[in-house]
Amino acid sequence: MRDYRVWLAIGGLLLAGRLMYPVLAGDPSYKVREEDHQNFVFVCKDSGEAFIMRAKKEQETNPRTGQPTLMPGLYCPQCKKWKASPPLSILQQNPSASICPTHKLPMTTEGPLPTPSS
Ligand SMILES: [Zn+2]
Repeated sequence: MRDYRVWLAIGGLLLAGRLMYPVLAGDPSYKVREEDHQNFVFVCKDSGEAFIMRAKKEQETNPRTGQPTLMPGLYCPQCKKWKASPPLSILQQNPSASICPTHKLPMTTEGPLPTPSS
C-alpha cells in the first residue's frame, strides 16, 4: 500500500512538471542547465528573427545589425512562431496586445526554443 502512494506522488510530480514546462515536454533533448533559467527568447521586430539571449533589459541589441530592435518574444502555439512583443508599458495598459493578430489567441512566453539560424 505504501509503495502505491509513493508511485502516485511521483506520477503527480511528473505530471506537474510536464504542465509547468511545456518546453521540456515538447523537446526531450532539451536539458535544463542553471544558466538557461535567465535565457529568454528575443525577436527582432524588423526581421522577425528569434534569438536566445540572457534577459538584461527590455530591449536588446540585434547582434547581426547592431540595432536595438530585439523585443521579448511571445509564442503563438497556432503559428508555431515567436513574435516580437510590444513594449512592456503597452502590454501593461493593453493586455490584448499579447494576442496573436492572426489567430486572436493569447500568446505565451513559453514555447519550443528557436533553433539558431547561424
Ligand atoms: Zn498565431
